[in-house]
Amino acid sequence: FKAELTKLKDQPTFSKDGKQVELAANIGKLEDVQRALDNGAEGIGLFRTEFLYMGRSSLPTEEEQYTSYKYVLEKMNGKPVVIRTLDIGGDKELPYMDLPKESNPFLGQRALRLCLDRQDIFRTQLRALLRASSHGNLKIMFPMIAVIEELLEAKKLLAEEQAKLADEGIAVADRIEVGMMVEIPSAAVSADLFAPEVDFFSIGTNDLIQYTMAADRMNETVSYLYQPWHPSILRLINMVIKAAKQEGKWVGMCGEMAGDTTAIPLLLGLGLDEFSMSAGAILQARQLVGELEQAEWAAYAEQALRIRSYEQVTAFVQQKRK
Ligand code: PEP
Ligand code: MG
Repeated sequence: FKAELTKLKDQPTFSKDGKQVELAANIGKLEDVQRALDNGAEGIGLFRTEFLYMGRSSLPTEEEQYTSYKYVLEKMNGKPVVIRTLDIGGDKELPYMDLPKESNPFLGQRALRLCLDRQDIFRTQLRALLRASSHGNLKIMFPMIAVIEELLEAKKLLAEEQAKLADEGIAVADRIEVGMMVEIPSAAVSADLFAPEVDFFSIGTNDLIQYTMAADRMNETVSYLYQPWHPSILRLINMVIKAAKQEGKWVGMCGEMAGDTTAIPLLLGLGLDEFSMSAGAILQARQLVGELEQAEWAAYAEQALRIRSYEQVTAFVQQKRK
């Protein structure tokens, strides 16, 4: 059984009827890269860069960051690597930054919001990323975007740093894809307005679910509302995928949902291109995709959008899988 899965390690991922998707890994520290490769990852779909900033007493330098990004890119040897810019705030604190206490940290100055305010920190990270880009297949991703101005501002700062590096004669890859996470409902429902401005979307369901259901992802007492394939969430995902396809852009998912065996058939049906998950879930996901007819699940997913409860969608998927 295990041996059968291991055989899939270096295989591409195709559905039974020939639709290819990419199965990537989420990583949060450098040691995770080897684990991703050992588990058959076709790329890194989410590199959470927070670890570089946490568990220390000062901000990481450009050089330290450059060394880490370069390591991951080289180790992945040309496979795609999506690196997300700093997503601090919410439940992740940096004591040495002395950030003001907020009464609703998940609704506060998190991630890109902080980076646009503290441009010194952001520009250092962007420079490190741009310099590392010449060592592999880098894609840069911005987290927690609610409105288009945030995306445009982040892209502007990136372009400015790129121009400075060019002036300094420092090598940067010719083409670096720039994308955004879709993890705030405002971005999901207006994905068509964002799509022309990005190369890709990656749906962050961990936050998208918490913000859509107004249920703190860390709070056990409301965990019953954490319903990944609730029709409301499926509808948002559907909107994001359709909006991207309309503009010829690719869409991934890097929330936990992407590695869930109940969700995968529906996501394949909705047309998701890239699934990024914990390394340990990849081989099983590859096997599962190989058993599914994409065209058939496109029709089932369409039906699932009109089922009225989470429980009923779960039962529906189980019944169709039989
Ligand atoms: C998400 O929100 O789904 C996500 C992948 O980001 P994080 O879990 O780091 O907030
Ligand atoms: Mg998130």
